[in-house]
Amino acid sequence: MKVLCWFRRDLRHDDHAALSAALASGLPVEGVFVFDPALLTPLPREDRRVEFIWFALQELVTTWTRSGRRFHILYGQPEYSIPRLVHQCGITAVYYNRDHDPVALHRDHEVGQYLRKQGCNVYSFKDQTIFEHNEILNSQGRPFAVFTAYRRAWLDRIGASDLRTHPVDLAAPCPTCSDDPPPPSHPGHWVCLPGNGSFPSLSDLGFSATNLTHLPLPLGSRGAQTLLNDFIERMPHYHERRDYPALKGVSYLGAHLRFGTLSVRQFAYHAWSTPGPGAQTTLSELIWRDFYQMILSHRPDLADGHCFLPRFDALCYPGTPADFEIWCSAHTGYPLVDAALRQLHQTGYMHNRLRMITASFLTKDLQVDWRWGEAHFARHLLDFDLAANNGGWQWSASTGCDAQPWFRLFNPVTQSERFDAQGHFIRRYLPELADCPDRWIHAPWRMPASSWAQWCPDYWPPCVDHATARLATLERYRACSPSGEST
Ligand SMILES: Cc1cc2nc3c(=O)[nH]c(=O)nc-3n(C[C@H](O)[C@H](O)[C@H](O)COP(=O)(O)OP(=O)(O)OC[C@H]3O[C@@H](n4cnc5c(N)ncnc54)[C@H](O)[C@@H]3O)c2cc1C
Repeated sequence: MKVLCWFRRDLRHDDHAALSAALASGLPVEGVFVFDPALLTPLPREDRRVEFIWFALQELVTTWTRSGRRFHILYGQPEYSIPRLVHQCGITAVYYNRDHDPVALHRDHEVGQYLRKQGCNVYSFKDQTIFEHNEILNSQGRPFAVFTAYRRAWLDRIGASDLRTHPVDLAAPCPTCSDDPPPPSHPGHWVCLPGNGSFPSLSDLGFSATNLTHLPLPLGSRGAQTLLNDFIERMPHYHERRDYPALKGVSYLGAHLRFGTLSVRQFAYHAWSTPGPGAQTTLSELIWRDFYQMILSHRPDLADGHCFLPRFDALCYPGTPADFEIWCSAHTGYPLVDAALRQLHQTGYMHNRLRMITASFLTKDLQVDWRWGEAHFARHLLDFDLAANNGGWQWSASTGCDAQPWFRLFNPVTQSERFDAQGHFIRRYLPELADCPDRWIHAPWRMPASSWAQWCPDYWPPCVDHATARLATLERYRACSPSGEST
């Protein structure tokens, strides 16, 4: 008798709910990760996410196999490959951490049905968030639709037991795993064992290397701990520095939380147990993360492109594919917007303030459908997460849950003056503006033509006039809003 721990977006071996429970069964535990072609095939052949996962898996598998346990890497549809593995290896139970992404829910339901038919038990655990689905509801037993009320209820409910570590002791002996004969090998199945196992290369998976290892982002769960320790030192100043993209004010832990190379409990515990406004603001951001996961779990239709507020499904978007292309190619002529998009494309990261500014610019200045921008971020963000990305885009487009009111529009120049006053961030990503004097850096078109030719001859003019676009956008939203709701 042995059991299987199925890793998905939880690529670590410490504080892991499913693995902790699997080990506690007292039975030998094998591990598995599935590369699903349905998810991989549409991706470009150079994809930082795939490489991030690949690095994290190597680290996980090394620790795992050092303890004498066997780890399987599969390439195939989980609905078939997991039940086949279970059958081949004589597995009696499968343990995994829940994922509320609608596609994942469907997959897990299917896999579970196949496994139960085979007589295999299936156990799932909460691990990805602190509170999930129905754990925080309002007094009518309904999901909260206002963040501040959700946050209050979340903080009232939280206790040390919610953040306790789920212990994992891989050093405890595992008598039988590595002595079993290996399952019959077939293409798309790598059996990892110390000494004689195999591990797929990136090219085995159909991918090639990106610039990931050249970025200042430590990888794997060891990298996540390094980043967390670095952030804990800076956390007291988080509330003061988090909005300034040129400063090292935020944690940069988004991708590690996304792929579970860091336990969100561990991060939240530090924020919850530390006094002061920096820690409180950090905890609030982690509560936003739970909030959007909770919203998606109650509104799976959001994944199909529906607005959270149905009245905005009728909103018109005069922005054209050409306007979208200007934004995608970072040629808007608004320096902070262009610098932010370059940051995204060069690193797979974009600072939160800049995500809000670029999203607002696309949806309200260029008047392009927010779903196009959502898809662009989904393709490029290393920390892409359906719930948070959809939440962020719908917040910016004012179509979402507790979103930015539609009659409040970000002014891209004012935002730039406020959050990148000296243009340090702009200059980092736009060498075209390296010599531009501070007073013109946020709106170069305002300088006299002769100065433009002198200071930034290679930069481009603005693609849209903010004041004109603002009026058109207010009209569009007003058409979908109850009368009286406006400035
Ligand atoms: C248009 C738009 C799209 C976004 N897309 C994503 C996405 O795909 N994936 C994603 O994880 N976040 C997304 N966010 C939220 C936020 O921008 C990122 O979580 C954050 O910038 C990640 O950087 P960090 O780890 O340094 O954040 P920090 O400021 O250090 O925050 C710590 C953690 O808190 C969580 N968090 C912070 N802000 C938010 C938020 N507003 N919503 C949900 N969780 C939050 C994240 O897990 C983050 O890693 C989006 C925001 C917007 C406006």
